[in-house]
Amino acid sequence: MASPTTLSARDKAQAFVDNFNRSYEEKHVAFENQFWGTKMALSSTEESPYSTELLTKTKAEMEDLLSDPAVIKEAKEQQEALANAKGEDVQEVLKVLDVIVRTCRCNEFPTPESKAVREETNKIEGSLEKSRNEMTLGYTNEEGEFIKASSVGLRTVLRTAPSESTRKSAYDGLRSIGAFVCSNGFLEIVRLRNKLAHLLGFEDYYDYTVTNAEGFSKSKLFEILDGLEEGTRPLMAKARKDLEELHGVKALDPWNTSYMMAGSVVKKMDPYFPFSKSVENYLRSYAAMNIGYSNATMTLDLLDRKNKYSNGFCHWPVPAWIKPDGTHVPSQTNFTSLADPAAVGSGLTALNTLMHEAGHAAHFANIAQPSPLFSQERAPTSVAYAENQSMFLDSLVGDSAWRAKYAKDLQGTPIPFAIIEEDIRAKHPFAVFQLRAMLSVSYFEKALYELPEAELTAEKVQSLADEVEIRIQGGLGARPLLSVPHLVSDEASCYYQGYTLAEMSVHQTRKYFKDKYGYIVDNPNVGPTLTESYWKCGNSKPFLQIVKDLTGKELSGDDWVDALKEDLEEHIAQERKEYDGMISKCEASSAEEKDGEEPLDLAMTVKFVDGDHVISDSSQSGLLSACKEFEAFVAARVAAAKASS
Ligand SMILES: [Zn+2]
Repeated sequence: MASPTTLSARDKAQAFVDNFNRSYEEKHVAFENQFWGTKMALSSTEESPYSTELLTKTKAEMEDLLSDPAVIKEAKEQQEALANAKGEDVQEVLKVLDVIVRTCRCNEFPTPESKAVREETNKIEGSLEKSRNEMTLGYTNEEGEFIKASSVGLRTVLRTAPSESTRKSAYDGLRSIGAFVCSNGFLEIVRLRNKLAHLLGFEDYYDYTVTNAEGFSKSKLFEILDGLEEGTRPLMAKARKDLEELHGVKALDPWNTSYMMAGSVVKKMDPYFPFSKSVENYLRSYAAMNIGYSNATMTLDLLDRKNKYSNGFCHWPVPAWIKPDGTHVPSQTNFTSLADPAAVGSGLTALNTLMHEAGHAAHFANIAQPSPLFSQERAPTSVAYAENQSMFLDSLVGDSAWRAKYAKDLQGTPIPFAIIEEDIRAKHPFAVFQLRAMLSVSYFEKALYELPEAELTAEKVQSLADEVEIRIQGGLGARPLLSVPHLVSDEASCYYQGYTLAEMSVHQTRKYFKDKYGYIVDNPNVGPTLTESYWKCGNSKPFLQIVKDLTGKELSGDDWVDALKEDLEEHIAQERKEYDGMISKCEASSAEEKDGEEPLDLAMTVKFVDGDHVISDSSQSGLLSACKEFEAFVAARVAAAKASS
């Protein structure tokens, strides 16, 4: 029996926790609704008003709660008061107190000086972002005309322009971003970020960010990354040699590499990835893996449209959690992409985005913890942890077994293996380039924040970027490091390692399933395993721990390196086997099929919207009908685009 004092201490702590959870949930929803409404350019009504003022206001209210010194102080006092208490209900309260302290720590600026440094940094970041958006970027075409283009546009030119001088000009455009940001505040931002980190007791800003986002130090991070870097260095050297043999030494020039590698296979694959079918294929393949959404509601705004925010994302206005009385609060998810269903390649891109974002959604819908703080996507939720789930699920689209079943043209013919093989031949030998490009961002940021203040000059920083590109990528990269927007922006700087760690874990997790079951696509054990081992816990367990608990090994790049090393012909033979296996499986099951299709059940409600317009709602018509209505809407859109062109 608990003593009366313990009981009252527990009750007090519970009251504090309840009050906090209620307050946080309310502020979170208010901010996220503004975020969605303003980014999607929804019409503002009396009932649901949207404006940038409300967005700023609601964001400040949420952040004020998380950076309120009184909150963290009380949470710590409650922890102390319960230090010697025992019992399951005490453990639950302690768990919430712990997540409150961890989350507030990621948001706090404990002294007036640190807060002032933060505010000054925000100001410079704001003005740099503004001048960077207004910067004139572009390239000179073959006719000697200057064509304006954004950095995304310049990268497309690098991949697609047949004229080398045009590509070179686009590359020079990308490179000019580095000089521009260095003379427009970036160096001052780096200096201030380091100053803040020092004030908060960290080695430097990178160390501060990694510790907040991943829960381990910068030195631990680079122990892991160094292993991957060393392990893949010979592969990079070989891939560069192969590229040179295939296309000549010029292919190694940074403005030529992406163009030389891009094949014609994208066009051949296109008919087998019709955009209109992508949603249904995603739902069917998730259902076959037994993935559910714990009664979540998802709102999907997938098509590009004027005035819509130009980057895809997935957010959670309502994070899933369990109330003290046991009531489960299902998540509400909003996600968006910018698909243009009439463009070549858009179906495959949309499918990848869907499988990815829907993976984030499935993960966050299945978190079952006693506070919404466990299932919100900002720190202390690890970037690597979050991306691991979405990247694992989108990796399936590259599997031949997945393609055999789901990549079909509108007549229902599956994609021929010959096309898949062409795709593999174009990509597999050079897959290491992407890994090295990812790594180089992290190595550059490490070196940047480690520079002594006196050396923080435009010249030094630009030559440092070149040095890192040459050291890690074997030569100057097609995407100059200083043109990567993550480096500049507050919430994305020192963040790239999250993708690298996630990809390591994706390969390790894939290997786990392959060793245990021999296959992943349509494997009904996948959903329950991920839910139990990766999803339920939310951010209550460290990322490295959950990967080790499931796979039985410390996180390492070994399985990723093995996948890259796999001999091309052996890889193709294996994929062919998996493709053939799935084709026969499908034939067998269609022969067996009785009358009609089984209804899909993923314990979710889906709403397809296009801005203010609701295209379909599965709570009214069921999942499959909602997909059909969406398909019809897209078909009408494509027909209209064709008629007007
Ligand atoms: Zn993601």
